Amino acid sequence: MTTTEQPTMEHTGVETATDDAQLATRTLSGLDRCDSCGAQAYVRAMLGGSELLFCGHHAKQHEAKLKSIADFWHDETHKLES
Ligand SMILES: [Zn+2]
Repeated sequence: MTTTEQPTMEHTGVETATDDAQLATRTLSGLDRCDSCGAQAYVRAMLGGSELLFCGHHAKQHEAKLKSIADFWHDETHKLES
C-alpha cells in the first residue's frame, strides 16, 4: 500500500501566528552554523527579529551581553557534553 501523504505547504496567509512558536521550538541541526566562526551552532538567539547562531564557544562569549536583550535564547550546548 502506497501512502504518499504530503504535508500541505500551502500558504493561506491566515495562520502566520504560529511562526514564532515554531521558531522557538525548532531544534538546531548540523546545518546550523555559528555566525562568528562557521562551526556547528548549538545556541540560537532571536534578537530584534534576526536569528543569531553561535557555537558553544561563541555562545559563552556573547551570552552575558546578548541573553538579557534577546527575545529568546535557545541553548543546546548540553549536546556538546555527551
Ligand atoms: Zn563560533
